[in-house]
Amino acid sequence: MKLYLVSTNSHKVREISSLVPSGFFIESLGTVVDSCAVREDGVTYLQNALKKLEAFLDLGLPLISDDSGLEIEALGGMPGLNSARYLGDCGFGEKMKDILLKLRGVTNRRARFICTAAYTDSKGTYIAAEGIIEGTISHRIRGEHGFGYDPIFIPENNDMTFAELGSEFKNSCSHRYRAFKRLFELLSLCIGSRS
Ligand code: IMP
Repeated sequence: MKLYLVSTNSHKVREISSLVPSGFFIESLGTVVDSCAVREDGVTYLQNALKKLEAFLDLGLPLISDDSGLEIEALGGMPGLNSARYLGDCGFGEKMKDILLKLRGVTNRRARFICTAAYTDSKGTYIAAEGIIEGTISHRIRGEHGFGYDPIFIPENNDMTFAELGSEFKNSCSHRYRAFKRLFELLSLCIGSRS
């Protein structure tokens, strides 16, 4: 079954493609429409994930989406829902440097990545699932792998950042892995109950 991911973020497409169970295939919706951009002004990850689906319902295709963010305890949950847009148009190097500056001298470095994954199809089925990974913020930018805030996020029970640990490790435990694992379990049950 082919599912269209409402995103042109090549990192996300690759990560999610590596998580799908056999029988499912992921293609970026960017191969069908000119732009997957959707105004992400929801007040929850779920609302934003659903907005991404609802913007393309008229295509009648099976769609999946996700919305995700990094929540840092000492910053009151920032950047959170605003993770992609934090500090505006600057690159992630600048965003991470700003966060490390704000956390200078702060001992509570607890943080978590959250992802809500969602699915819909032309039959009006909606499925959503959330995944969370707890961790801490490093004292400096470390590692070359992954994307976004991976070089400053140290997942629980580790000393290295996601960007140092690499994609195989990340895709075995990340917030996105946890959300999509549950989403595909629910989707498989749903498809099974229809046949
Ligand atoms: P969105 O889900 O497309 O709204 O973007 C979420 C933003 O959160 C990304 O642009 C990154 O800034 C951050 N983010 C979400 N998941 C990850 C991840 O797995 N690694 C690093 N940064 C992430």
